[in-house]
Amino acid sequence: MAETIFSQIIRRELPADIVYEDDEVIAFRDINPQAPVHVLIIPREEIATVNDIKPEQAELIGKMVLAAQKIAAEEGIAEDGFRLVINCNRHGCQEVFHVHLHLIGGRQLRGLSSS
Ligand code: AMP
Repeated sequence: MAETIFSQIIRRELPADIVYEDDEVIAFRDINPQAPVHVLIIPREEIATVNDIKPEQAELIGKMVLAAQKIAAEEGIAEDGFRLVINCNRHGCQEVFHVHLHLIGGRQLRGLSSS
């Protein structure tokens, strides 16, 4: 797969506001936030889209969700709630082809029927 801008963030070649990292996952604030809290959680491993996730990567994807849970608590939005989104390909409006989980919160979000 072609490398994306997120690989440069992982290698610290591009600045990012990193809020969490461990051996497998890294999370940083979205450069164009859609809400007071908008963090992208990505695997260090390059996976282009949800379509490319393999069964043996299920634990890794679970760790991304657990990282989101931890960040939401740290950001103080866990109780009020938040949204986790992974966009896939054209109809999903995916722009960066390195799987990423959007953690969005800090304000009342609209229902999905309005998106
Ligand atoms: P998606 O449309 O799901 O592929 O989302 C890509 C997200 O990456 C968008 O919300 C962008 O604002 C965000 N983004 C792109 N470049 C950067 C960057 N250098 N640092 C942080 N976020 C970025």
